Amino acid sequence: MAEPEYIRLAKETEICKACKNIVVGKGNLHASIMFVGEAPGRKEDEQGIPFVGAAGKNLDGLLEKVGLTMDDVYIANILKCRPPENRDPLPEEIKAHTPWLVEQIKKIKPKVICSLGNYATKFFLANGDVDKMDSMPGITKVHGKVREIEFNGLKIKLIPLFHPAAIIYRRALLPEWEKDMEIVKKEIKEEQKTLI
Ligand code: URA
Repeated sequence: MAEPEYIRLAKETEICKACKNIVVGKGNLHASIMFVGEAPGRKEDEQGIPFVGAAGKNLDGLLEKVGLTMDDVYIANILKCRPPENRDPLPEEIKAHTPWLVEQIKKIKPKVICSLGNYATKFFLANGDVDKMDSMPGITKVHGKVREIEFNGLKIKLIPLFHPAAIIYRRALLPEWEKDMEIVKKEIKEEQKTLI
């Protein structure tokens, strides 16, 4: 079978040619909650699995605090490949890699998406239009504010969160991060009620 266009597009980027592993995602493909980060780092590139490094430890802590296991969630990134020196994603890279993410979202059909950091948050706020991402509000303004979005025909509750790596470098964000977790907890409880 020919490779789908969304995979071919991502594979054509320089970051994909240079990376060790394409990092597709991890977790349960039937989960109703998705977490979307920015891009793989060094450890993720080596192992081909998202959030296995230091930021991943913080994300694991978040999941534990809100009572979720890897069975309850699916975790992916805006970019499937590590940019050199972990530099910021470029608009052309986001354009080439996010059709794959959109495909994942269409298959998983999550009810809740927690966007981690600026890039993932702006991508969803811009409704997937990469050219509009720059004009979207940043994570400092919108973190912890739940909003209903319609994304590719799916009704999704978007919960923007600080990126778990930001908590490592900016300890002052910790109280905010903990407050946001309470919001995630509440939304997840609501969600689970609707599933029973
Ligand atoms: N940071 C991310 O945004 N994603 C990862 O997979 C790891 C670190």
